[in-house]
Amino acid sequence: MHAPDLQLPGMPNIHSHAFQRAMAGLAERHKNPTDSFWTWREQMYRFAGRITPEAQYDIAAQLYVEMLEAGYTCVCEFHYLHHQPGGQPYADPAAMSHALIRAARDTGIRLTLLPVLYMTGGFDGRPLSERQRRFGHEVEDYLDLVSLLQREEDDRLKIGIAFHSLRAVPELSMREVLDEIGKDRTPIHIHIAEQLAEVDECKALRGCRPIEWLLANMPVDDRWTLVHATHITPAEANGVAERKAIVALCPTTEANLGDGLFPLREFFDLDGRIGIGSDSNVSVSAVEELRWLEYGQRLITHERAIGITIAEPSVGRCLFEQTVAGGLQSCGQPAQAEDRIVLDPDAPALFGATRDDLHDRFVFGGNRSLIREVHVGGKVAVRDGRHPRRDEIAAAYRKTLTHLLAQA
Ligand code: ZN
Repeated sequence: MHAPDLQLPGMPNIHSHAFQRAMAGLAERHKNPTDSFWTWREQMYRFAGRITPEAQYDIAAQLYVEMLEAGYTCVCEFHYLHHQPGGQPYADPAAMSHALIRAARDTGIRLTLLPVLYMTGGFDGRPLSERQRRFGHEVEDYLDLVSLLQREEDDRLKIGIAFHSLRAVPELSMREVLDEIGKDRTPIHIHIAEQLAEVDECKALRGCRPIEWLLANMPVDDRWTLVHATHITPAEANGVAERKAIVALCPTTEANLGDGLFPLREFFDLDGRIGIGSDSNVSVSAVEELRWLEYGQRLITHERAIGITIAEPSVGRCLFEQTVAGGLQSCGQPAQAEDRIVLDPDAPALFGATRDDLHDRFVFGGNRSLIREVHVGGKVAVRDGRHPRRDEIAAAYRKTLTHLLAQA
């Protein structure tokens, strides 16, 4: 038995695009005089074009093993890779979703699957580009997909909904979907205000900023998760906090893509709620997300200890507890509160740890994994730091990745 004081709650990962794990580290070369989020997106689209349901399964299974070993016990998949590359649905219109569900079941991670509605290529309503066609749905087909998937829900699988972004879903279509789900406790996720170009386009075509528009026009409440919300004004932050919506922060991806920094301290001062996501999966580590969440703020403010509240002066504990609580709300899975991780009592970085400094040591104490066990839904998913199927799943992933890279 481990000392009970080395246990922590499992960490929810509230924003992931599984397939992007396979391109981590492959988009880091200077290629364009104006390398940006938008040039990265073109590379990502080219890569996405090669993913089959079989590849999706192998990548997701590998990713979920890594997530479990890193202490993530639930993942929200923001899933828009629905159809065949040309845009034709698969014979099973949920084939790509089913690959994610199987990967989650085979590895033991909890999954909140968010099939994404993606309809237009910009705020002006332009059609999807050729590379975006496999993401697209009409509202009716989208609702069919959601209800088909909802029939498969169980105590570890929750189906939510997602709008890709304001630029990708017209207002009327958002309303049609929301009317259909009514007041259900369905999680609702949306990418919002990640990039300045998106804010400028929204202002030009809708006369206001994206978060401002969302708060004024949609029934944003505690079912909603606003992914990134990077470019947020004080008034918008106040509105989001008042509605008790979650902001999903993805510090390693936001840093990797040059998005910008969210005003964390100001949002905490408003009692705002946050969770963390691994997003592009360029890093699969709750520790690294939390650490970057704090370090980004220190670098810009020239101060220390930013991620705190009046009630909680320990940065590690404050960030950990805030992101677990926000994450549980965002995932919408009640049984998840029992999931936990057990830290390694033999790790030198934890020698002499007390309940007072445990979270700070875990978050700031180095790079060796300090996680010994992970429990999901009462079952052991990781023992002695390893997932029991790690080698077998990595062997399948190696084959798939080799094949994908050969097509480049
Ligand atoms: Zn995303």
